[in-house]
Amino acid sequence: MTELSPNRNLNTNDWIIETWDPAGSAFALAGAEKLHEAQSPFQKVEVYRSDKWGNVMLIDGCYMVTSKDNFVYHEMMSHPALYSHANPKDVVIIGGGDCGTLREVLKHPGVESATQIDIDKEVTIAAEKYFPELCESNNDPRAKLMWIDGIKWMAEADDASADIIIIDSTDPVGPGEGLFTRPFYTECLRVLRDGGIIVQQSESPLLHLELIKDIRQAWRDVGFECDITEQFFLPSYPSGWWSASFACKGQNDWQAKRDCDVPTKYYNRGIHNGAFAQPQFLIDAFES
Ligand code: SAM
Repeated sequence: MTELSPNRNLNTNDWIIETWDPAGSAFALAGAEKLHEAQSPFQKVEVYRSDKWGNVMLIDGCYMVTSKDNFVYHEMMSHPALYSHANPKDVVIIGGGDCGTLREVLKHPGVESATQIDIDKEVTIAAEKYFPELCESNNDPRAKLMWIDGIKWMAEADDASADIIIIDSTDPVGPGEGLFTRPFYTECLRVLRDGGIIVQQSESPLLHLELIKDIRQAWRDVGFECDITEQFFLPSYPSGWWSASFACKGQNDWQAKRDCDVPTKYYNRGIHNGAFAQPQFLIDAFES
């Protein structure tokens, strides 16, 4: 059996397949009409039309966005943090080049600025053409889209200038690797105001528990408090069981401070509470 490299994308005649060898698993969608391909200095961006899941974006062979299930991810990367904060005004999104998280953040009328910093403009170019529904808020006067390394941007950002930082990045490899480090988290803490919240897509609780532990330990080491991991299901990501981890520059009980008052398809107060419920193995992992 030929060993397949992680994330190797095997397009046969009628399937878009992502293999994830470390987990011995794969995910495939029927239909493989390629609509777009761009190789940037950072990564390869591909878009396919699937039979039943709409358009599909892959970055370096990894599923990033499908028309069918992205709403769960983008809502869970934004609303739990925004409703856990007393009065979020300035939000920073690192990554998020498909603009879906930006759209969700800008649904909140109290948000005064949403700055999205993605390293690769090719992702947004592809999103604007093939996922226009995710880009519908890109021209909101509160939105600012930039294309530079999030590490560089954070190092140069002003002290106490953000209420929420959402790290909506690729996996901790390649350009995304530096977004999972103590030096970067130290800058995030400096840029957040007191009571500020950091959110990071933290991969799969089933497959990547050690990464989640490393992220949260690094946050504790640099001075964040009240770290916790929310979980949600996302069929197109490895194992289908995904997470985002949260921490605060100060205290936070992660209770929703307000009822959901923006249009959503997945998120509501019950989902907010349920997503922060901790499975026993996650509790045990942080007590050992
Ligand atoms: N939903 C996806 C996931 O959970 O894997 C993430 C979506 S979004 C497309 C990931 C984005 O992170 C990409 O657009 C990529 O260009 C961006 N990215 C990776 N490393 C980055 C860095 N150092 N600074 C800014 N953006 C980065």
